[in-house]
Amino acid sequence: ATTVAFSVGIISEVYGELLRAAGATERLIELLEAEPAIKPPVRPVALPEPAQGRLTMESVTFRYPSRPDLPALNDFTLSVEPGETVALVGPSGAGKSTVFQLLLRFYDPQSGRILVDGVDIAEAEPEALRRRFALVPQDPVIFGASGSENIRYGRPDADDAAVVAAAKDAVAHDFLESLPQGYETFLGEKGTRLSGGQRQRLSIARAVLRDPSILLLDEATSALDSENERLVQIGLERLMTGRTTLIIAHRLATVVNADRIAVMDQGRIVATGTHAELIDSSPLYARLAELQFSQPGMASVSARTVNE
Ligand code: ATP
Repeated sequence: ATTVAFSVGIISEVYGELLRAAGATERLIELLEAEPAIKPPVRPVALPEPAQGRLTMESVTFRYPSRPDLPALNDFTLSVEPGETVALVGPSGAGKSTVFQLLLRFYDPQSGRILVDGVDIAEAEPEALRRRFALVPQDPVIFGASGSENIRYGRPDADDAAVVAAAKDAVAHDFLESLPQGYETFLGEKGTRLSGGQRQRLSIARAVLRDPSILLLDEATSALDSENERLVQIGLERLMTGRTTLIIAHRLATVVNADRIAVMDQGRIVATGTHAELIDSSPLYARLAELQFSQPGMASVSARTVNE
């Protein structure tokens, strides 16, 4: 359910009407039109150009409106340098998705600050702020629209050449071209159904086209077949190059390759380090690694490392 909230939230303001035209369900439109629980800035501050992608969360405490007793994030502090990849891991309910929700400003924290390139996001011009981020959700929503329109949701003013270039980067070009009407094939519930891996590559193409400085990746938990897995990884690696990336990680390869892993529990970061460091220093991490991180062919590596 959280993933759906992300997916619809990020597209809400720009695409509501487009979605209606494209035949989105009433429930989706309802979600899209829900008032975000944030206050727009009175005097918006411009984000510095060019974008760097520096991210700072300072002593952020946040409770969901419906759960005033329970801090989803509790004095949470995290800095991510431009171009750095940080993997968030933690047990269910630790607050990983909440970090994304606050970065995308679906909610404002009750205390603490979140800065993008040194500007408090509560003060930043909302549209400009949104353009700095792209989200690749676990299970991307494909709209009832053509393949090219689905990619163009990432940047509505993009021309066809830019759409095709993004699809090529995301390893989505070949499968799109092979559809009955190529890029113009109608996708979604009433159109051509895509496989999980194809949906992910389409979502990566959207993000490539958006060209964000900060990337939020919610890694899929369900396994893809190995060929799709390989193609998605190629697309993701290209997308992540040169960008600040925060990943809710579920795969061993992801945590092993991250510059830094932040282990979350009960709304806080309880340990940071590399995979090798944390396996030794954090019992919670060692347990998570054993239970959660799965990858075909690497499970044995995980088990061996944990047992050493
Ligand atoms: P998972 O791995 O299961 O997705 P998570 O680490 O992403 O978990 P969050 O979804 O951020 O955890 O949840 C943090 C806390 O906030 C949990 O206690 C959760 O029950 C609560 N929570 C999450 N979303 C909401 C919401 N919309 N309203 C109220 N409470 C929420």
